[in-house]
Amino acid sequence: MTLTNFSVKQLMELDACTRCGECMNPCPINVQGAADLYIPAEKISMLRRIIGRERGLLGRLLKRNRDMSPQLTTLSENTYLCTLCGRCQQVCPVNIDQRNLWISVRHELVERGHAPAVLDQVIEITRKEHNVLDYPNEERAMWVEFMDDVPDHLYQKERADVLYFVGCIGSFSPAVQEIPTSFLRLLEAAGEDFAVLGEEEWCCGFPLIIAGLPGEAEALRQHNLEKLENLGARTVVFSCPSCYYTWNNYYKLEGVELLHSTQYIHRLITQGRLEIKEIEQTTTYHDPCDLGRGMKVFEPPREVIKAGAKNFVELPQNRERGYCCGGGGDLEMIDADVTNKIACDLLNAVQSTGAQMVVTACQQCKRMLLNSVSTEESAMEIKDIVELVLEKGIFKGGPRKNG
Ligand code: SF4
Ligand code: SF4
Repeated sequence: MTLTNFSVKQLMELDACTRCGECMNPCPINVQGAADLYIPAEKISMLRRIIGRERGLLGRLLKRNRDMSPQLTTLSENTYLCTLCGRCQQVCPVNIDQRNLWISVRHELVERGHAPAVLDQVIEITRKEHNVLDYPNEERAMWVEFMDDVPDHLYQKERADVLYFVGCIGSFSPAVQEIPTSFLRLLEAAGEDFAVLGEEEWCCGFPLIIAGLPGEAEALRQHNLEKLENLGARTVVFSCPSCYYTWNNYYKLEGVELLHSTQYIHRLITQGRLEIKEIEQTTTYHDPCDLGRGMKVFEPPREVIKAGAKNFVELPQNRERGYCCGGGGDLEMIDADVTNKIACDLLNAVQSTGAQMVVTACQQCKRMLLNSVSTEESAMEIKDIVELVLEKGIFKGGPRKNG
């Protein structure tokens, strides 16, 4: 191990693991009955052994030139079979930041040539199309063209106060395109001067960063920042928690406000610019991993839903311990079957509450839940919060106020 991809804190965290096994039960991969090796603690032990053999005193004395390729291959298989949901770290008594640890391990594996072969395709596709889904990027805002009553500029303006950064899944996945169309209508109803970037929006870089390819994400980051500067917007709004997480943690912006849709809507309510009509159905809320555990946004979505829902029920596991939908960590490109099984577990948890509607705040979570509904019989309504608010919101108009 070169160790350059690990912080000192992360190296200390490896030694801090007590092997208590607390992280085993919440891990959605482990719940799928995968081999013991997939327990987070086992990955830490494996990593510790590899580093010890390559860098430790005993390793240097006895096995200095030992080839660790087989161990690295096993570590790679296990490290990429992970949704990066962060549920493991919520229960860890020594607070090991496992999500970031697994990302650093992936980076190290890429540099040592032990990453999954599919990443070569991801690099090629992203360099060519500026998204990881392999769609022509000039079709990124085609969903706007399918809407009725849109202005000739299709919301792609030269200047605007607010940028709506849509994200790849919302832009290209027909199953969830109601999310960007609803958020766009919502911004209009709120009287916002906003724009979308259309084909000039490039992937935020999140799928590359978490795959261990931060260098590949750099051109995307620089391009998006340049477009933001040209637009002159001082606020960026997101309906995708992963884009919101990435802009907050990797874009290094100053003087620009970043708001997830849940925070933006919550602000409209607290400013008296929006009311929510009664929601008749018993409703529950699923915390998206990148919004909840990732960005600690737990209460705004609940307050928005509760403003209308008289019967709100929590999922058995919620907030910091909320479920994973299976759609994170690039797992879908590694093992779509495991992804779908995790989504079915989430649907089962939702059904156990007796709720008639589950609201979430992420296009990937909604997509995963829709997939699991098609495999399991269910009458459950599945909505993103922006769809719910567009349907139930009464907008009061008036000028936009910050703060
Ligand atoms: S981040 Fe999630 S999937 Fe990955 S090891 Fe931790 S609990 Fe398991
Ligand atoms: S919960 Fe933390 S200390 Fe316990 S085995 Fe898992 S990583 Fe190690």
